[in-house]
Amino acid sequence: MKPGARDVRADAPDPLYEQLAAYAGCPAATAASGKDPVNAPMIRHWCEAMGDTSPAYRGPGAVAPPTMLQAWTMRGLAPDPGPDDRTGRSPAYDGLLRLLDGAGYTSVVATDCEQEYLRPLRPGDLITYDSVIESVSPRKTTKLGTGYFVTTRMDVRANGEPAGTHRFRILKYRPVERPTQRKAPLRPRPVINRDNAGFWAGVAEHRLLIQRCTRCATLRFPWLPGCNACAGQEWDTVEASGEGTVFSHVVMHHPSFPAFDPSGEGGPYAVALVELVEGVRIVGNVVGVPYDKVRVGLPVRLEFQRMDPDLELPVFRASEGG
Ligand code: ZN
Repeated sequence: MKPGARDVRADAPDPLYEQLAAYAGCPAATAASGKDPVNAPMIRHWCEAMGDTSPAYRGPGAVAPPTMLQAWTMRGLAPDPGPDDRTGRSPAYDGLLRLLDGAGYTSVVATDCEQEYLRPLRPGDLITYDSVIESVSPRKTTKLGTGYFVTTRMDVRANGEPAGTHRFRILKYRPVERPTQRKAPLRPRPVINRDNAGFWAGVAEHRLLIQRCTRCATLRFPWLPGCNACAGQEWDTVEASGEGTVFSHVVMHHPSFPAFDPSGEGGPYAVALVELVEGVRIVGNVVGVPYDKVRVGLPVRLEFQRMDPDLELPVFRASEGG
């Protein structure tokens, strides 16, 4: 098992795995040959790319870097190898991949390789190889998703002599499904306490209640335990008529708080300080006009907007086009 992978219900039957495992031992490529003989230009490019300045790979008597083993067998980038195809790719390997694709394991990632070197490769060596599907793992779950590790082993020959083996492992997997639709975040819940519970009780009845000091009749909003004018602690309420005008406003561009945007799209959106005709001011969203049509003096009218199943809030609808 690869690091980070774990069995998926190891004891559960997996009919697909039974089919996949039957491919173990089947050829992935037979009597294939490299596109080019081992050659100095490819060795030079490789060394330049790797920053490898070893004299062993230069001049007369040079050998190829052993880790180039796979490079001599690569089929190239062309999707169709064409009529001179010498990759020897077998129907079995295509069948294995088709089976995985058909079952939804459509993604692929190379996970690791192991190489063994039996003889140095020198410019002029003709490369041939056979490849076998060595194993298919039981179904595993990784951070990328759930799938199957497929290991192939390539036996590489140079001028017909065994030169090395290249064991290559891929994970064919079903990508972890990401939610395609973002769930709109909920507005933060209001903190309801003894000092403001009456306000929220009013909202529940679609009434916007303003506190009024029973000693000096001063209106106050937001709700407070005592009167700022006379320090009186006794109060009653008056219900706002709902008429008001925008006293001031800001447009939120960044950072985005989708929960506060009446459209739910994350803004921009306007937040207004609305002056009610009763004389107090309240902060709220302006709805009914684009955010850039909100202006000081804009007439608005109170309404109650359901934000989610558990929350209704007062908002202010522009009563003209802005
Ligand atoms: Zn007072």
